[in-house]
Amino acid sequence: MLNYRNTNILFGAITLILLVIHLRVAHLSWVVPALFLFDYSLILFYGSYFIDSAFFMPVICKGNSGEKVVSITFDDGPVKDVTPELLDLLKAYDVKACFFCIGKNIPGNENILKRITEEGHLVANHSYAHDFWFDLNSASTFMEDLSDTSNLIYGATGKKPLYFRPPYGVTTPNLNKAVRKLNYSTIGWNIRTYDTISSDPGHVIKRIHKNLSPGSILLFHDRMPETVQLLRTSIDYLINQGYKIVPLDELIQTKPYA
Ligand SMILES: [Zn+2]
Repeated sequence: MLNYRNTNILFGAITLILLVIHLRVAHLSWVVPALFLFDYSLILFYGSYFIDSAFFMPVICKGNSGEKVVSITFDDGPVKDVTPELLDLLKAYDVKACFFCIGKNIPGNENILKRITEEGHLVANHSYAHDFWFDLNSASTFMEDLSDTSNLIYGATGKKPLYFRPPYGVTTPNLNKAVRKLNYSTIGWNIRTYDTISSDPGHVIKRIHKNLSPGSILLFHDRMPETVQLLRTSIDYLINQGYKIVPLDELIQTKPYA
């Protein structure tokens, strides 16, 4: 299995072999270690940026059910003009979703968070600042960041989240340490709707159609007004395909709160 530990063992062993060859058998050109380092970096890059690779840490990207059930998740809220609109739509369809919230968006929007949980949806952690350089943090900075967001969520809803989704889906060894210490489950997705890139329902449905299977987790964002229409079209499509939309904790059988 390609993960961080196995990769390090493999590359460590190859380094030793190359060193022995270089010292005992034949002088190796500088191109050999350069190529070797390049390959190693490529693998780490792949592990960092593809959340479903679960390279640095265990990540739940799908439920195990063989039945036609899926879950809907939102990242990056709460946002005053968007999240309540989505909640209205979810209520009309009687669909429960999971909202991965950014900590800094919570002050002033506590009522939205409260509404999310009161209406039966789940609330989860999506970091405090959603910083572009988030992945460069130390384990202790990650822990601080996640705890700050968790405290804000607790203050607004009385719930301590145990689901965490990394910003941009990027994972690192330090993040793994922090997540383990805080007892979080890391949640990914297997259908990225790219609602932040295209507001064309046709494009979004195409993406869903391509990756839809029993247990799918769909990723939307509750920060653009266009997502309301995209969500409506997507729910209609899922229902038409015979899928039932269930709460994320039911889909992945994992505890959402401490
Ligand atoms: Zn995000």
